[in-house]
Amino acid sequence: MLSNRINTLEFSAIRKLLPIANEAIRKGKNILRMNAGVPDTDTPNVFFEAISKFDENRLAYAPSNGLPELKNAISNHFKTYNLNYSEDEIFVTVGATEAINFSLLCLTDIGDSILTTNPYYSNYETFFNLAEINLDVFQTSIENNYDFPSKEEIEKSIHSKTKALLMCNPSNPTGKVMTKKEVEMICEIAIKHNLYIIADEIYRDFVYDNKEFISFGNYLEVADRLIIVDSVSKRYSACGARMGAVLVKNKELREKIEKLCSARISAPLLEQLGTVALYKTDKSYIESVTKEYEQRRDLAFNLVSKIPGVSSNYPQGAFYMILKLPVDDTEKFATWLLSDFEYEGETILLTPAGGFYKDDKQGKDEIRLVFALSQEKIERGIQLLEKGLEAYLRL
Ligand code: PLP
Repeated sequence: MLSNRINTLEFSAIRKLLPIANEAIRKGKNILRMNAGVPDTDTPNVFFEAISKFDENRLAYAPSNGLPELKNAISNHFKTYNLNYSEDEIFVTVGATEAINFSLLCLTDIGDSILTTNPYYSNYETFFNLAEINLDVFQTSIENNYDFPSKEEIEKSIHSKTKALLMCNPSNPTGKVMTKKEVEMICEIAIKHNLYIIADEIYRDFVYDNKEFISFGNYLEVADRLIIVDSVSKRYSACGARMGAVLVKNKELREKIEKLCSARISAPLLEQLGTVALYKTDKSYIESVTKEYEQRRDLAFNLVSKIPGVSSNYPQGAFYMILKLPVDDTEKFATWLLSDFEYEGETILLTPAGGFYKDDKQGKDEIRLVFALSQEKIERGIQLLEKGLEAYLRL
């Protein structure tokens, strides 16, 4: 007998489509993957250089809370955002994933709730299920470009079991960047209802149209109830390094995170050495990547707007956008694209957006598009989407 916890855990929609995609590849079809949030830019070479300089004969554990030189590099990096976190307020984690899981374990007991936006990053649901806590949501919508509802509306979802607000800014899956007003409103709500804020700001650098990114870290009045989650996966195109961090000022919370760090002994040593070099990378690297993503966003948005019957939001950050398609069920459509459609020997792998919503009935006519690909691939991908849609609607 296996646990209910694991038996009731669902594979993501992305994962469900993979066997069908593999079958299509086996039959000789080319698949353009516009589904996963994996940047196609190179990881800065300093990462590999730093690892190759390792000259010890033994791979020992690293200190549980992270290599001092890495925490120092993270601390200095955050100073460039005007955020002051000392080394003992920083914990190195295995990606943002572990950072979020640590936060949930510290803040909640079984049956507690955390409030986030609907739609949300689908893995949050997995983390919540494993921690046996409830995911509560407040609604945002494509029609309003995912702007937040009023304070009163958000407060309706807060109850005695609510422990924290989990804010993904800029957002995966929508590319929404919170306004200053929205950040301040969430701070006010957190103070009024005595909640923590978990700020998943891993896409903080990727903000477009000269829009200013407003971090929760800028608000000293919430400093004691704030956890900032960071990661090198997207910023430095280093998803495989599995390196992230938790930044926390609250002393009691730091002691608890320390316990979790030592329980899992250590984050990988070599990757930490490489990551020191990443955090020291000149800001010009991030600026040029952001400029490139902005052009990709422009291209994707313009091309998508020209497809009859398709609408989208206008993402100002990250590298995701939601598309509303003239179909009833995008999971069926995405499956059909893989199994029954090809254009010049090629098809496209998309992510149905249903998995980003709490209610199964929501997002059924939506997909998430990733524009972290080259402009050439974006053009081709959107062409395939258009051709596929035309053929599907003729069926
Ligand atoms: N948080 C968000 C919003 C993400 O989009 C992702 C990955 O796509 C993660 C966390 C996980 O990041 P990591 O690779 O650092 O574990």
